[in-house]
Amino acid sequence: MPHYPSMVNSKLPAVKTSIFSVMSRLANECNAINLSQGFPGFDCSPELISLVEKYMRKGLNQYAPMPGVYELREAIAEKTAALYGVSYDPENEITVTSGATQGLFTAISALVKDGDEVIIIEPAYDSYAPAVELAGGTPVYFQLNALDYSINWEAFRKLISLRTRLIIINTPHNPSGSVWNAADMQQLEKLVHKTDIVVLSDEVYEHIIFDEQAHQSVLRFPKLAERSIIISSFGKTFHTTGWKMGYCLGPENLMQEFRKVHQFLVFSSNTPIQYALAEYLKSSEHYEGLPAFYQAKRDFFVDVFRQTKFTLKPTAGTYFQLLDYSHISDETDTEFAVRLTREIGVASIPISVFYHKKTKSSHLRFCFAKNNEELEKAGELLMKL
Ligand code: PMP
Ligand code: GLN
Repeated sequence: MPHYPSMVNSKLPAVKTSIFSVMSRLANECNAINLSQGFPGFDCSPELISLVEKYMRKGLNQYAPMPGVYELREAIAEKTAALYGVSYDPENEITVTSGATQGLFTAISALVKDGDEVIIIEPAYDSYAPAVELAGGTPVYFQLNALDYSINWEAFRKLISLRTRLIIINTPHNPSGSVWNAADMQQLEKLVHKTDIVVLSDEVYEHIIFDEQAHQSVLRFPKLAERSIIISSFGKTFHTTGWKMGYCLGPENLMQEFRKVHQFLVFSSNTPIQYALAEYLKSSEHYEGLPAFYQAKRDFFVDVFRQTKFTLKPTAGTYFQLLDYSHISDETDTEFAVRLTREIGVASIPISVFYHKKTKSSHLRFCFAKNNEELEKAGELLMKL
């Protein structure tokens, strides 16, 4: 096997294999119930699969247009207008991406230059900081309240400087499951008013929000929308994380820069799936039913896990539930998550890994996008603790 004979000067020396890969692999090795990595444990709609097949058989198997199949961009524009009352032009303001991760990476690469500062709110999804560093930017970290993951806007304001290029936000929030309310969005709107800051709004869980709350998209706030790039993911919405399909909305002048990178990163995304999604998206019940569907799962999970020694506050959004283990063990969250996987047979994600520096946490993240039998079995196993 050939071996590169020189020293590799890594561009990302601190980056290791993602916690999602690590815990999923460990779960497989230990034959544990995998509630770690976030993906549904059930299949997508057979109708959606038939639609993909239909378009494959129609011979729509070659490159899609660079910004995405027009019909899909049109369907996204209709959905956005219906839900948030804002018009986005499919021609110039919407781009279909190969998953939200690609959308995030593309937006950051397109907008961040050497020396720019990017505010990242921790605990943070793992792909943000490496993308900022590769673009030559400097991540500036802000920590949410460690108990309830709320944000102190007065403290946050102090991080904004003349070098701030981008603020990355995420509601509903992975990993905490917290959601921002209208007052949070208004605070952000006030802070960025009359600056050149762009907001990169990760809204991949826009349809997974509970207890009758409305998702507070930046789209609802005109002064935020005019400076925001919004990222969403069909993986979360249609139980198809393996298809890696998402999209991005933004003002035309930002979208032009986004597309300059997009066309050389992937050029375009999967063609037959885009046609299928365009048709499937036309029936709004396909996404309108999601809050109720996942709320029932959350409630089932909460009922089962309330019988364990963990403590919990029902999650407000996403398909993740945090469990507090401080009454059970003094181990670090990573040690504890690994031990639960090996000895009890249930895999979860420790929260400390979502911080750039060593941070103590007594929370583990469990994904409840699973069949009830699997959730019940996991609960029974954890009752042994
Ligand atoms: N952002 C957040 C907050 C996520 O949780 C995820 C995936 N779990 C992504 C982005 C990436 O989504 P995709 O799989 O569509 O790339
Ligand atoms: N976003 C998913 C999670 O939070 C995992 C995605 C991935 O494995 N990169 O679990």
